[in-house]
Amino acid sequence: MNDALKGRIIWALFDGEGDHPPAALKALCRELVNEQRASWADFNNACDSLRTMKTRDIQCSGFSIRLLYNPVRSVNTLAAVTPEKISERPCFLCAANLPLEQKAIMYRGDFLILANPRPILPFHLTIAHRAHRPQSIYDGMDQFLRITMDIGPDFTTLYNGPRCGASAPDHLHFQAVPSGKMPIEKEFGIKGKFSLLSATDNITISSGRGLGRKIILIEGSRTGDVCTAFRESIDTLKAHTGQSEEPMINVIGHYNNTFYLAIFPRRAHRPAAFYREDDHRILVSPAVVEMGGIIVTPSETDFNRLDASIIEAMYREVSLMPKRKS
Ligand SMILES: [Zn+2]
Repeated sequence: MNDALKGRIIWALFDGEGDHPPAALKALCRELVNEQRASWADFNNACDSLRTMKTRDIQCSGFSIRLLYNPVRSVNTLAAVTPEKISERPCFLCAANLPLEQKAIMYRGDFLILANPRPILPFHLTIAHRAHRPQSIYDGMDQFLRITMDIGPDFTTLYNGPRCGASAPDHLHFQAVPSGKMPIEKEFGIKGKFSLLSATDNITISSGRGLGRKIILIEGSRTGDVCTAFRESIDTLKAHTGQSEEPMINVIGHYNNTFYLAIFPRRAHRPAAFYREDDHRILVSPAVVEMGGIIVTPSETDFNRLDASIIEAMYREVSLMPKRKS
């Protein structure tokens, strides 16, 4: 990033020291969103539209989801993410290609914290690496946990694997949303919703039970322990699926003296119905927010017709879990 670009984009610096203790980050993020609402009309309109967005809660078998009708998200839902399509377009997360109105917090010299221009929730943030490098969490987990800890318990951090939800698989990025908004976050704390797989003094690993999709939950208070447990889980998944590259996963992170790290192993990026060309097409492209229980559709028809059985079938189809015998 050259000096002129830095001057245009960098709105604040956060280095975690001196004038910028970690507790200051969440306030800075909220200020950034408010500043962007004041100075960027399109973004302000996108935020305003969240207030009138239609939502519907659906009780599925053993878990609940919230359906959200958001026409602004059609760009994300329909994003073409094949390597050919990606190579044909300028990267929208590289600083030089950001909208002229967009400002950023430079986070510890490595990441740009940005207001998500098409938010799913108020104060939805995109956290993009300052350099154009591929989306990957195996080596990036230290940074993901550091951001999760710095931004604190009021926010929850998110990661989409390059083949299951990231609309920029060529540029390393995370997201953050206010915590407690995704139904799965309430289920983390409910006894009986997770079965213990292993426990040591420092790390507990459990598996979702009756939640309709596969979830591995890692809990621990120290970054190094959580990182190690995460990488071991990924290595196991790799061996299980026979994949040499990063297994298809979405990740949710939260920190409140202890880390909660939820991994959603995936079998498919999108359900088969997404690719249909008739009236049975379903415009839902499951990414981390959907796996967390907020199902976004840019189609009003789908908003009206999706029900528990369609959602349960979609989770089974895209999640790495035994297929139900019919
Ligand atoms: Zn880029």
